[in-house]
Amino acid sequence: MRKPMVAGNWKMNKTIDESRHLVTDLVVGMKNLGQIDRVLCPPFTALWAVREIIRGTDIGLGAQNMFWEKSGAYTGEISPVMLSEVCQYVIIGHSERRQYFGETDETVNNKIKAALNHELTPIICIGESLEENQAGITADVINRQVRVGLAGLGPEDGSRLVIAYEPIWAIGTGLAATPENANDIHKNVVRVGLAELYGDDIAQSIRILYGGSVKPDNANNFFSQTDIDGALVGGASLKASSFLDIIKAAV
Ligand code: PEP
Repeated sequence: MRKPMVAGNWKMNKTIDESRHLVTDLVVGMKNLGQIDRVLCPPFTALWAVREIIRGTDIGLGAQNMFWEKSGAYTGEISPVMLSEVCQYVIIGHSERRQYFGETDETVNNKIKAALNHELTPIICIGESLEENQAGITADVINRQVRVGLAGLGPEDGSRLVIAYEPIWAIGTGLAATPENANDIHKNVVRVGLAELYGDDIAQSIRILYGGSVKPDNANNFFSQTDIDGALVGGASLKASSFLDIIKAAV
């Protein structure tokens, strides 16, 4: 049995003060909603403030990105050593980072290895663009992202991964994939690729989240699919009521 996970990606939103307000409401709302993993990924500047408020709860904390080196002359970057002082998770290879900041499957691979070496759980984003989807090459794109992104990781690493399938055309557009299509990619492309890398047992244990316009009113349909193990939520994680409703749907 894979334990469901719902993670909120706040992207470049929320000041420290706004973060404190949101998390305070979330902590109250999440009391007694214990059967699934909940993870909050605020911007770097709010990590510490959020950490202080969720201390003593079982709410997980994640960053949205990191560099792979431990330290050094990399102005503006944050290292896995630094993150591991503050949080347990890190989003790696979000499509916005691939699109606007030049991240590739190779840099994603470096970051995943660095995260694992520092006891951080990577939430690895993969997904095809609209053009790739329309050209009918979704499976090829996902296969490449899985194969190159996860290259060089052994089975013991495989079991520590979380994957988020996020079709780029569905992110922030209100145009979610259909639950059936998303499940088909999870089951027949991502999980099959994971099984080739790590064997069937480990592949079956890895959580594959769906991301892309998940809202309270469609969350149930995604979570009722066999191979959708939770969600990575952007826009709807910025309001306590909508994020809590999505968590309730997953529970
Ligand atoms: C995301 O940014 O990971 C995301 C899924 O965004 P949204 O839920 O807003 O589509």
